[in-house]
This record gives sequence, C-alpha cells and structure tokens, in this order.
Amino acid sequence: METKNFEAVQQKILSLMETEGANWTRPWVEAKRPINCVSKKPYRGLNNFSLAVKGYEFHEWGTVKQWRRRGCSVKADQVKKSARIYVWIPLEKKENAQEEGRRPPREDGLNWFERGMFKGFPVYNAAQVDGYRAPPPSEHQIKTELTEGEVFAIDCWIANTGARITHKGDAAFYRPILDRITMPLKENFISDVAYYSTLLHELTHWTGHASRCKRHFSMEQEDYAKEELVAEIGSAMLCNELQIEKTVRPDHAHYLNHWIQAIRKNRQSMIKAFADAQKAIDFLEKLQEAGVGNLQQGFHARIEGDQFQRRIAL
Ligand SMILES: [Zn+2]
Repeated sequence: METKNFEAVQQKILSLMETEGANWTRPWVEAKRPINCVSKKPYRGLNNFSLAVKGYEFHEWGTVKQWRRRGCSVKADQVKKSARIYVWIPLEKKENAQEEGRRPPREDGLNWFERGMFKGFPVYNAAQVDGYRAPPPSEHQIKTELTEGEVFAIDCWIANTGARITHKGDAAFYRPILDRITMPLKENFISDVAYYSTLLHELTHWTGHASRCKRHFSMEQEDYAKEELVAEIGSAMLCNELQIEKTVRPDHAHYLNHWIQAIRKNRQSMIKAFADAQKAIDFLEKLQEAGVGNLQQGFHARIEGDQFQRRIAL
C-alpha cells in the first residue's frame, strides 16, 4: 500500500519533469502552502509537495480525528479518497550513535541511527469534509514584481544567513571550496524576482557546506545532478514561501534526464532529495531566528545599522 502511494508521488514528479521540463516545480510554487487544519503548520518536504499538487481549492488538511476536532467530518463519498502523508519513524534512537564507528558503513550512505521506516497517515482536504467554514480568502499571489518593502524584507532575510555573496560576471554559482556565492549584478536580471529566485537556488547550495548541512559535493556528474535537484527543490520551497515566481534556468534543463533516471532507478533518491532540501530550509530558517546580520560589504549596502537588526517575518 505504502509502495503504491510513494509510486504515485514519484509518478507525479516524473510526469511534471516530462511535461514542464526545467519548470517542473511551477505548480508546486504556485499552490498555496498546505497546512495542517489543527496545528496550522505547513507540511514538510515531500508531504508538502504531494499535497500542494493535488489541486484542491483549499490548503488545509487533516486526519479524520483532526477534522473532528475542528467540528468537521469527512464526506461519505470521500472516505476512500484520502491523500497520504508520511512520517519517518526511526528504528534506532540517536543515543545509539556512538556505536556508529563500530559498524561497517551502510551501502545507502545513511548513518546507522538513521534507520527507520515511513509510516503513512491518511489525510483529507478541507474540500472533502462537511462543516468546513472557509476563512476569508487570503492573498496568495505569485509575484513577478516586488515593492521596495518586499525587496527590503528579502534582503534582510538573505543577509541574516551571513552567506558571502560576490557580485560579478554573468554567471550565478556557489563554489564550495571558497564557500562563496557569485551572482551577476541585480540590474543584469530581467527582474528583482528573477534575481532572488536565482539567489535562493545558490543559497540552498550554500547550506550544503561541510560546516552546515554537510552534503556531498563532487564533480561526478551523478553527484552533481543530485545536488542540483536539492537546490531546485529548496529554491522552490523558498519561492513558494516568499510567493515569488521561480525563474527557469535554461542551464538546468540538461539535469532533467539525470533526475528522471535517478528517481526511476531508486525511489530513495527522490525521498532523500526532498529530505535534504527540507533540512537546508530548516537551516536557513534557524539563521533567521539567530539574526546573524552579517551584512556583506557592497551587498545591498543600503541596509544599515539597527534597521538591519529588525527581524522581518516573511
Ligand atoms: Zn545549482
């Protein structure tokens, strides 16, 4: 049953990659973030993707029990039409981590204490329950242009990460060895949104550094393609959160075949890419709480002093 459900998500990703090409995350970025009907927290990683692309009018989801707490009940004809979310249940506790060194490395590259299994839970959309009173419609419009205030808020968010960003040349990339992002000047992009969307992709790469989320960087084509997939998923999550259009990078089109093959060959690679991207976003969010505020010289120099210390909720 679980395998069948995972296959459906995998099929959805593959068909989007095949029909939308490098723009495969578009329907996800454009959908309102799926949230839980009780906690109001957004669903994470692959769950976020799979619920968002279901195409329902509402973005609240919950189990039968959770909807009951909201005074709602699943419509009789919808009972068998649940979606599924997955929660990782570890088989071994982290306390066993000290044993790590005594065992041979696992073939799947995971740590031993990361062994576990996915448990699936059926959830229903607000459109599938009786008694749901939709809140007044709130704005979720993907912006292609930003106001000055929005630019300021995103600048603060980025500066709070403390990433070193140099503006020069005409290519955007992250170089792990120098731990530096290089971006073309903002005015060389067709819009502010295109600039930030590109930067969010590079910022996701930046989280992979050994001192942060420690992802494997290598020039091997397969590894490179994997890291690109993580950066694409991460930037899609961030664009969705910031409600900005995600720029299609024509230079990414050639990774598509790698991704499609990798996902077809091994479902774990799809699950891992979403999990890694979620970890990357969590890391960036944490830096917002810390408010590092390490403004780089020459980078958006108009944000200064205590103005910069302000925490901006995006
Ligand atoms: Zn990249």
